Amino acid sequence: MSKFWSPFVKSLVPYVPGEQPKLSKLVKLNTNENPYGPSPKALEAMRAELNDDLRLYPDPNGDLLKQAVAEYYGVQTGQVFVGNGSDEVLAHIFHGLFQQELPLLFPDISYSFYPVYCGLYGIEHVKVPLDEQFQIRVADYARPNGGIIFPNPNAPTGCVLALDAVEQMLKASPDSVVVVDEAYIDFGGETAISLVDRYPNLLVTQTLSKSRSLAGLRVGLAVGHPDLIEALERVKNSFNSYPLDRMAIAGAAAAFTDKAYFQQTCKAVIDSREYLVAELQKRGFEVLPSAANFIFARHPQQDAAGIAAKVREKGVIVRHFKQERIAQFLRISIGTPEQNQALLDAL
Ligand code: PMP
Repeated sequence: MSKFWSPFVKSLVPYVPGEQPKLSKLVKLNTNENPYGPSPKALEAMRAELNDDLRLYPDPNGDLLKQAVAEYYGVQTGQVFVGNGSDEVLAHIFHGLFQQELPLLFPDISYSFYPVYCGLYGIEHVKVPLDEQFQIRVADYARPNGGIIFPNPNAPTGCVLALDAVEQMLKASPDSVVVVDEAYIDFGGETAISLVDRYPNLLVTQTLSKSRSLAGLRVGLAVGHPDLIEALERVKNSFNSYPLDRMAIAGAAAAFTDKAYFQQTCKAVIDSREYLVAELQKRGFEVLPSAANFIFARHPQQDAAGIAAKVREKGVIVRHFKQERIAQFLRISIGTPEQNQALLDAL
């Protein structure tokens, strides 16, 4: 706290990201990164950008990337928005679309950045409780609202909502924007992008940080009706005209064209997830059904914070949230078979 801070800055409660340890020896299963490297084609495209052209600004619209995304999903480029990580895309969504008279709705257990954006932009919100099995109950969202947002699969539970359930939610709130945050969709869910032509109130966000192994590049996107995309462009062009640098545009676009590598690495993560779930169950853990690159597990006899501290002593980090309802759970990112074995050995 400093006397130079404005009352607004004093009131902020910022997001706390998972630890990025300086010790490289630790097995990092705490921030849902991909254990495999990015597509070699993406790396090659980025290397090709390391030249004198870096003295020039990048394309403010990131058209090369918008085209790659549009082609991949069979939509128009005018239905695509790109930004510096999906966190930035989400920030523009909260800023440009969720400042409404009625409160925003999101699950009580979900991405902990949502309430932070509400604080930053002064957005009233209501946390809608997950049911006893930690699932989203679609009917609970059929009430007056100024917008709805939820991750699908949800984070940190990993539980996925089927496409027809997402569609029911869209139908029940035709007058507000429904955002489906699909950061983890490629590990087991069905994307709602197929619905954007029929629902002008739907916006789908995705990231290249997880299934495309590019968390270090910071690229995210949104797909939806051109009117929603235009709102985001207006906010973006009032904030930072060049959110994506030359390497990010080229690397991200190339990542979308390398389908074979993408499918291979996603399959490896999914196979490892199924193995890890079975092994944890053998050790007495209860594991929520996961469609993500992480699992959410608790042990009926062992304290979660205690387990996290103990495995850390053995060089493995997992994520624990000191939060009501989930304080006895651990969120464990799926690693390589060797990393997963290191966790099992530590347990
Ligand atoms: N949404 C959810 C649900 C997430 O878990 C994350 C990762 N922390 C993000 C969005 C943001 O991802 P990024 O900014 O790396 O695209």
